Amino acid sequence: MNASQDRSIREVLIVGGGSAGWMTAAALAQALRQDCRITVIESEEIGTVGVGEATIPPIRTFNESLGISEADFVRETKASFKLGIEFVNWGKQDHRYFHPFGGHGRNFDYVPLHQYWLKARAEGESAPIDDWSMAWQIARLGKFARPTQDPRSVLSTFEYAYHFDAGLYAQYLRCYAEDKGVVRIEGKIGDVTLNAETGFVESVTMADGRIVSADLFIDCSGFRGLLIEGALKTGYEDWSHWLPCDRAVAMPCENAGEPTPYTRSTAHEAGWQWRIPLQHRTGNGYVYCSSFLDDDKAANLLASRLDGKALGDPRPLRFTTGRRKQHWNRNVVAVGLSSGFLEPLESTSIHLIQANISKLIALFPDKDFDPATIAEFNRIAITETERIRDFIILHYKLTQRDDAELWRYCAAMEVPETLQLKIDHFRRYGRLVAREMDLFAPASWLAVHIGQLNYPERLEPLIAYRGVDARDWLAKVRGAMEREAQAMPGHAQFIRSLIG
Ligand code: FAD
Repeated sequence: MNASQDRSIREVLIVGGGSAGWMTAAALAQALRQDCRITVIESEEIGTVGVGEATIPPIRTFNESLGISEADFVRETKASFKLGIEFVNWGKQDHRYFHPFGGHGRNFDYVPLHQYWLKARAEGESAPIDDWSMAWQIARLGKFARPTQDPRSVLSTFEYAYHFDAGLYAQYLRCYAEDKGVVRIEGKIGDVTLNAETGFVESVTMADGRIVSADLFIDCSGFRGLLIEGALKTGYEDWSHWLPCDRAVAMPCENAGEPTPYTRSTAHEAGWQWRIPLQHRTGNGYVYCSSFLDDDKAANLLASRLDGKALGDPRPLRFTTGRRKQHWNRNVVAVGLSSGFLEPLESTSIHLIQANISKLIALFPDKDFDPATIAEFNRIAITETERIRDFIILHYKLTQRDDAELWRYCAAMEVPETLQLKIDHFRRYGRLVAREMDLFAPASWLAVHIGQLNYPERLEPLIAYRGVDARDWLAKVRGAMEREAQAMPGHAQFIRSLIG
């Protein structure tokens, strides 16, 4: 092939340098090792959203694919380990449950273990299903060690992720990407030029007049969606009727004691509060619905509910839950907040950044921008986002709280059919119906159904034919988990020995 026939992408421009921008730059620098110029434009004056500190286990795959060592990462981003999320006051007031990374117990039969637990419960067992989660047994003691691979051991039944300082993570990835040749331009983009014939983005013009052109543009400009919406008018599907929270206020505080190896989400009058413990501080925020609470009151309520002394002023954020109608439009791919937003209840935004990056690499275009490639990218991206949306709505829909307008609205609202079907199956026989591209495995759905008090009307019919008395097995599994958790080092001690 001669040079004039070469249709390869040679210039990629990433607009924005938040978590999305630098994660994309690092991953593309690793994937496109030569003959492609990658540039990031970011504006210190505009800044980043500055939150986004809790993650889910696939983040480990992302770091591993870049060859980042865990010790280095934990040291540089002041990270702590995360075994799941404790939900407080969600099902009803003064009630709590744990959504663990990993399942409950170990199946010993082809009727799932939770059915045996439901049977035992009907016969008087009072221990919560959380007690059969290895992640919770470790988390409640404030301990941590990595899982093992041996499927016979209860230590193979959990997973973990991290809490980290998002600003430090972006800085870390910036060094990584710049080492691999990525070029950073500081400054504000004032204008975007489209090709008059094709409608593709040709270049951006900086406030100082510089023009930067490229073949492929990655829009990591945050909520404003400078290219995908500002220039291409792609459109947005609004999901506020299912997820009515539209504001947040964030305020870090000093740690009170050692960091817990889990996130906490506490439901309040008009939304919920996150608590994310890092090595050097605790991240906090109140996500709320502006129809039921005003901004000043939300900031005051958050300030009054911190573990330790506030570090800085409250930081207000506004958002509309939903998704961009296409994540990839012409030669622009939206990654991060520019592609849409789901509230951080299950810490999924950073994962969605990672998911769009993986798809982009798997479906990397050439200058012809094959429409079938773009359609496939959008099909997967949209399905993935809708599956996560359903899982988040589940938490609101299953509430039994009737003490405030938000909760009454959510308990009564109609939900997407895809979710209603899952709720109905669980309510009937405790069955977990999985769907293509579900990010959250049946174990996660189980934790939320049971945790939010959606107990099935009947047991799985198959259990009547098994003739198995599972009580011994349940006691044995729980005992083994308790013993293994007791023997682990403390979470803070584990971090100290890891980072030296
Ligand atoms: P931003 O951080 O907003 O970055 C945008 C970039 O674009 C900036 O560098 C900016 O300077 C640049 N830019 C914009 N316009 C221009 C211009 N005209 N010229 C030049 N540069 C420009 N995610 C999780 O996974 N876990 C969480 O716990 C979590 N918590 C969250 C809590 C809240 C309240 C919110 C709102 C989000 C949360 N998220 C969370 C989401 C997470 O913060 C984001 O997914 C992540 O930070 C990525 O943001 P971004 O890079 O897309 O956008």
